[in-house]
Amino acid sequence: MRWCRRAFPRGERLSLSVVDTLGIDIGGTKIAVARVSGEGQVLTSVSAPTPADDPAALLQVVADLVANLTAPDVAPTVGVACAAFMNETRDRVYLAPNIAWKDYPLLDELEAVLERPVVIENDANAAGVAEFEHGAGRGARSMVMLTIGTGVGGAVISEGILLTGGFGVGAELGHVIVEPNGRLCGCGSQGCLEQYASGTALVREAAQLLGRPVEPDELRELLASGAPQAREALVSVARHIGRALVTLVAVLDPDVIVLGGGVSDAGAALITPLHEEFARHYGPYSERPVPRIVTASMGNTAGVVGAATLARLTQGEAS
Ligand SMILES: [Zn+2]
Repeated sequence: MRWCRRAFPRGERLSLSVVDTLGIDIGGTKIAVARVSGEGQVLTSVSAPTPADDPAALLQVVADLVANLTAPDVAPTVGVACAAFMNETRDRVYLAPNIAWKDYPLLDELEAVLERPVVIENDANAAGVAEFEHGAGRGARSMVMLTIGTGVGGAVISEGILLTGGFGVGAELGHVIVEPNGRLCGCGSQGCLEQYASGTALVREAAQLLGRPVEPDELRELLASGAPQAREALVSVARHIGRALVTLVAVLDPDVIVLGGGVSDAGAALITPLHEEFARHYGPYSERPVPRIVTASMGNTAGVVGAATLARLTQGEAS
């Protein structure tokens, strides 16, 4: 049984949880490495740009960053979060949208260059683990997380088990269909949530309502000042998420739903219409318990903290 299939320890802490672990977040533009405490706090961190088109150079950057933070009192196993589709045993990358990995043996390559045990997880899942163990999902039994950034990512932890799926690519919640015959998605399907509820979709919707192009920074200002077209675009995003959540809740029955990513910074302006839409569709079953809908609390450290948490869990399992 692999760590990604096992239940997270609840209540009792693992014997090695006091030992700090290293978490690595390999994104399309930046690689970050952090030393993380057993409580999920980032103690120190370093980062460098990602050599996205050169896998060998990328490994060297990771090795150099890790060397900076290696210390005798840090657990040997390191956790890695990466923006990639990975196989079910978490040793190979099928492909990565922004990094030149294709059917790439990432686990072997990293273990060779770092000379220590490595555990790898998809970055959205790692962020979910961080929120579940240390952030907005703390204390929950089952959690659904939507990360609403440039695209829409997802993570599902059901009864303490991270859902990775039969082929390793489960919980791609951005590709739940919310509009039959809707907009064409990068995945090849039509009407995916990502096409209506990502940061990209928000900008597109706002531009349409304003009748002119708009940059993300300007849109943020327009939202802050309460400009009606910007608000309307955000409400459209919220409604699509609310509707998708009704479907996700029907399948997964989470006790908490966590919204992360840049768009969730809108806070109540997003959550209020989202709640309304959710309640409108969820209404007929109003006797059922309703999950809490909250915004993520780990910010952009979620990747490194989640990776470090998985390293800590693996370390505990091996002991
Ligand atoms: Zn899609």
